[in-house]
Amino acid sequence: MNLFHCGCHPLNDPRHLSDGTGQVSRRPMAKIRASCPSCGDVELTTEDVVVRVCADDNSGTYTFMCPVCHTSVIKPAEQHIVDLLAASGVKVVVWTLPAELNEVMTGDPFTHDDLMDFHNLLHDDESMHEAMTRLLKGV
Ligand SMILES: [Zn+2]
Repeated sequence: MNLFHCGCHPLNDPRHLSDGTGQVSRRPMAKIRASCPSCGDVELTTEDVVVRVCADDNSGTYTFMCPVCHTSVIKPAEQHIVDLLAASGVKVVVWTLPAELNEVMTGDPFTHDDLMDFHNLLHDDESMHEAMTRLLKGV
């Protein structure tokens, strides 16, 4: 992946004149060359790319929609790539692992037989009624 500023003059390209808020911006838009698995090298702008950083393990990815085949592409990004993209104006989204991963699990692992039992219970109107009644009564 390469970052570079496009060769046009910032004031001659309307993409550089507005940041979408109506305010005039004179900062040149960085172009990013990334690789689509199907199309090879494609050229993107900072607005086409999103960086995602996991707050729990600091792993990073960047994602974009290929301008040629319109496939969503997700690639791992090491810290220096995250920093480079962020410095060039790419949106950075920080996310966390689901809280359920930290829950203490008790009981036996859920099996295929458990799933089939649950499936059968869902089709048993009497069992469903009893379960809903217990839920409503808080028992
Ligand atoms: Zn593509």
